[in-house]
Amino acid sequence: MQNDNNGLWLTDRIPPDQLNKYLGADGGDFIPDALIERQLQDRNITGGAADKIRVREIISKSLAIETLTPEETAILLNVCDTALWDEMESAANTIKKNVYDNRIVTFAPLYLSTLCINNCVYCGLRSCNDSVSRGILTLDEVRDEIDVLAGQIGHKRLVVVYGEHPKSGIDYMVSTMKAIYDTKAVIKNHPGGATASIRRVNVNAAPMTVEELAALNGAGIGTYQVFQETYHKKTYKSVHPPSTPKGNYHWRLYSMHRAIEAGIDDVGIGALFGLYDWKFEVMGLVRHAIELETRFGIGPHTISFPRLEPAENTPFVNESRHIVSDGDFRKAITVIRLSVPYAGMILTARENAELRRSLINLGITQTDASSNIGLGAYNRAKGAKFQESTRQQFVLGDTRSLDDVVKELALMGCITSFCTAGYRCGRTGECIMDSLRTGAEGKFCKLNAVITFREWLDDFASPETKALGEKIIIKEIEELKVKVPKAFDTFMDYYSRTASGERDLYF
Ligand code: SAM
Ligand code: SF4
Repeated sequence: MQNDNNGLWLTDRIPPDQLNKYLGADGGDFIPDALIERQLQDRNITGGAADKIRVREIISKSLAIETLTPEETAILLNVCDTALWDEMESAANTIKKNVYDNRIVTFAPLYLSTLCINNCVYCGLRSCNDSVSRGILTLDEVRDEIDVLAGQIGHKRLVVVYGEHPKSGIDYMVSTMKAIYDTKAVIKNHPGGATASIRRVNVNAAPMTVEELAALNGAGIGTYQVFQETYHKKTYKSVHPPSTPKGNYHWRLYSMHRAIEAGIDDVGIGALFGLYDWKFEVMGLVRHAIELETRFGIGPHTISFPRLEPAENTPFVNESRHIVSDGDFRKAITVIRLSVPYAGMILTARENAELRRSLINLGITQTDASSNIGLGAYNRAKGAKFQESTRQQFVLGDTRSLDDVVKELALMGCITSFCTAGYRCGRTGECIMDSLRTGAEGKFCKLNAVITFREWLDDFASPETKALGEKIIIKEIEELKVKVPKAFDTFMDYYSRTASGERDLYF
């Protein structure tokens, strides 16, 4: 048990005015549990003629990049006919191509501490778990991690992860983000001693106050992610002790509202699949997206769907009644893609390589690689070893290197994008919603994807991956000539300068 809890910090975490601000007059929220259960129980959708017509109508709405209503989502979730599921999967793939083309954005997770005052029953880092060693990285240790992530592997994007603890509060977050952005890592094996840096820091951390979120915004946050874990209130209560800050369902449910209020217009939502019925969680995610779109004109930039993984001394993960099978997981991803067609979708290295390979075409847009979630585990600081369950939140299913993942994606015809230009040029929030819906963002990002892929191939790829990647680049350049003729000359100028060693050119 960690004995350094700070009682005052705990009770002061949640200011009542900020907690209540977005609730309805009757204290209600946008997750009507009973209605969702009713919609899911309505009826099974078989392959009968009327059902086919209705499901195909819904699919065409998704293909027009319109967000589905909860009723339409429930219909898709209740489809029992395998041929209709095939049609839905094929539409998911088409939507991904139309909105995001063949780009897959890559990133790495970086855990900055293993301290946490919460006690989520499914998590290896829960405060009562004595089997996990605790620590927090110093700024020098953070820089050491970046030396490996940016200088040896070639990552440009991170999602940094903090537990909820006074020692990793907002001041620590801001100073670690600054240390990450400021680190110039020497590129391993580069003849000229060139440096590389992390260009985008996304944050996955506990819900915060508007003031704290404004500070994160000032520190240059990319996406702010908070996963609701489960949208089902009764289950939420049973897995998050009410005496902890995380026990407050509404504080978490409205984190993204406060983030947008604080000026962060790039937000990521998610649910932890395996706590409750997977269909209910999909309905929760879709209602959350609709709520953000309706209230702020900004939907979630990304949706995550982690599944429960084994964690040290954490029996709950094997005992849950709602473990999601691979088949149902596939269905969940398909329906999320169809219901919120503009959103980025993140599939992480929690899942094993084979499953990731089979799910990527269902509309995945982001994935991590070379991931190492132990504290100090990239640079092996503080005695860290690779995949040590006693030093991390859970155990990863896919520990392949970034080079291996890029190679595999290239063989599948995908280009790995290291582009981070969107938020640096203000292409976020409301401004990006229209370009995503019309497919314009895909064209724009492809220019940056090709340039950043060239950078990475030259600085970090193995000879085999480089050869495969170059074949993709040749094809992409031919397509860009036709699809973006106006920007093509400037693109070629940036591309040749990049190939000659210039770095960080973008549109
Ligand atoms: N401490 C932060 C919080 O709770 O908001 C986030 C840390 S963690 C990187 C992010 C997510 O990992 C959690 O929100 C949860 O969904 C997921 N997670 C926790 N335990 C897990 C487990 N045993 N298997 C898979 N994912 C898990
Ligand atoms: Fe802490 Fe997050 Fe783990 Fe819960 S999921 S115990 S809040 S690190």
